[in-house]
Amino acid sequence: MTSRLLVRGATVVRPDGRTGADILAEDGVIVALGRDLVAPPDTVEFDATGLHALPGAVDTHVHFNEPGRADWEGLATGSRALVAGGGTTFGDMPLNNLPLTLDGPSFDEKAAIASQVSQADFALWGGLIPGNVNALPELHARGVIAVKAFMSDSGLPEFPASDDYTLLRGMEVAASLGMIVAVHAESDAITRGLTGATREVGRRDAMAWAASRPVLAETEAIARAIHLAEATGARLHVVHVSSGRGAVLIAEARARGIDVTSETCPHYLTFTDEDVARLGAIGKCAPPVRDAEERARLWAAVASGAVDMVVSDHSPSPPSMKEGDDFFAMWGGIPGVQTTLGTLLEEGPAHRLGLETVVKLIAFGPSRRFGLTPAKGAIVVGADADLALVDMRDRRVVTEESLQYRHPQSPFIGRTVRGRVVRTFLRGEVVAEDGAPVGEPRGRLVRPNRA
Ligand code: ZN
Repeated sequence: MTSRLLVRGATVVRPDGRTGADILAEDGVIVALGRDLVAPPDTVEFDATGLHALPGAVDTHVHFNEPGRADWEGLATGSRALVAGGGTTFGDMPLNNLPLTLDGPSFDEKAAIASQVSQADFALWGGLIPGNVNALPELHARGVIAVKAFMSDSGLPEFPASDDYTLLRGMEVAASLGMIVAVHAESDAITRGLTGATREVGRRDAMAWAASRPVLAETEAIARAIHLAEATGARLHVVHVSSGRGAVLIAEARARGIDVTSETCPHYLTFTDEDVARLGAIGKCAPPVRDAEERARLWAAVASGAVDMVVSDHSPSPPSMKEGDDFFAMWGGIPGVQTTLGTLLEEGPAHRLGLETVVKLIAFGPSRRFGLTPAKGAIVVGADADLALVDMRDRRVVTEESLQYRHPQSPFIGRTVRGRVVRTFLRGEVVAEDGAPVGEPRGRLVRPNRA
């Protein structure tokens, strides 16, 4: 039997505009968009008058840490938080989980668990580390959306940084496959040297830690990665760009014809280094949150279209790993998968970001880059009926109680977000209602469309 959903009267937001329209889905796929659609009597109807229909967010950068470290987050709790915040698809990173996603069997293991417990559809990343270049074809065949390499210490001994030779070889193999290589771009030499020098003079505070990972460490690594991508013809993506200067460097390379994209995260757009000094460990991430001037540059880059997507880099840990006085020693990583949409809706207008741009940054941009269109990322006929119905009149303060994370910690607690997510639909079925996940987990693996 065909299942049908008719969402009536919403303002449908696309990257290029918005219209008042009904949305009709059959068996989870959008089959019609238009005014006053007529549907068979067995159709489930939802009156969305006064609400905006956005495509479900596609958060291609999360660390849900399962298998192996599900006590840090988990595929069930992480995906429940995602749908509560209006997301419908995530891309899980290859590290923090154990085994690392470095080959076919580890991919299969994670995919099998997520298929059982995930509230949202999911894509998986593979890893590139010294010694596993030969596994890239196998990861590609499994359907990873990209492979990720660190250019500096990942903080996890089991996931070492890629030296330039590993990056070169990895990009050569990736180029032959048409696979994207993503880099955490910070210079290992610069961050390592400055860390040693800072610790030697006895500094352990947040500002000293941030100073040990300057913008220069990011731009130097980005420039080197671009150089390698240009030489090898590899498709490059730079994760969590923290600085406006880094984003501009990438946009300039793209203008020269290099296949390179960038993402940034809500925390780089929201906080400053001084906020982190006040927040403490919960505001620690690498690259670090920058000063107000650099944050303004980053907003300008986002507003100009230089940044392709905004993703959460949701990276939680048990609270015990965020304790102590030594900012260098604490675990870095910011939990934010539930608040990305609300943060951008709240902060965006002051920086000339309309709803259309927000939709592009959190849904269409990542879907297009990682090959998940046309099924994901836009409300169009033929796409999955992945929808966030949002009441834009609503503004509220993020509370610990509202967060669905395993550990309800976040630097966004106490901040105002806009746009209550009234319903989240995944392939035509409700997966969250008024900010709370509902129903059985029904997430499926999605793979890049290579057509
Ligand atoms: Zn990350």
